[in-house]
Amino acid sequence: MAREPDLRVIPLICPDCGARLPAEEGSVIFPCGECALLWEPREEALVRRELRLLAGEGSVHVSFWLFPFRVTTAGGEVTTLGEYRRLTGNSNRLEPERQGMPPLLFIPAVAGMPPHLLLRAGRLLTLRSPVLTSRRGFPSRLMAIGRGERDAALMAQTILLATLGPERLRNLSFLRSVKVTVGEGGLCAIPFLERGERLLHGEWSLEI
Ligand SMILES: [Zn+2]
Repeated sequence: MAREPDLRVIPLICPDCGARLPAEEGSVIFPCGECALLWEPREEALVRRELRLLAGEGSVHVSFWLFPFRVTTAGGEVTTLGEYRRLTGNSNRLEPERQGMPPLLFIPAVAGMPPHLLLRAGRLLTLRSPVLTSRRGFPSRLMAIGRGERDAALMAQTILLATLGPERLRNLSFLRSVKVTVGEGGLCAIPFLERGERLLHGEWSLEI
C-alpha cells in the first residue's frame, strides 16, 4: 500500500492568547479577534501579519492586498502614480502631492470571490487609486482571507493589463513589452455596507 506523505498540521490556536482561530472555508490567514491580529501558517509556525484598517462606512470588512509596483513598457519605465495614470489615460484630478508616490495595485484577498468580480474590483480600485485613510482598530467582521501574498502577486500582471485602455490593448507589441514588478504586499481591510446578498462601497461605486 502506498504511503501517504506526512502532513504537517499546525493547530489553529492563537500563539499569543491561546484562543481558537476561526477556520472558515478557504481561509489562508486567520484573525484573532481577542488580540486584534492576523496569523498566517508558514512552514511549521503561525506568523503574524499586519492588517491596515481603512476608514469608511460599513461594518463588513473585505481584505485586499496592496502592492506598490512599477511597469516597464516599450515606452519606458513607470514608477510613480502620476506616470501610471498617464499610462492608463486616467484624466481624473490627482492631488499634486500624490503625483510622485508609487502606484498601488489592489488585489482582492477575500475567499471564494468569483474571478470576474475579483478582476473588476482589482481593476476599479487600481485605476481609481483612491486616497486611503487608515484608522486604529481591528474589524469585528472580516470576510475570510483566502489569498496569500504570493498568490495575490501572481495576479498583478492580469489586473494591471485590465486597467489599460482599449487602444493600448489593441497594440500587441506594446502589450508584449509590459512587465510589472511588485514590491512587498500589505493587507488592508476595507469597510463595505451590506445590501442583501451583496456588499457595497458607496463612495467608490463598487459592489461585490
Ligand atoms: Zn489571540
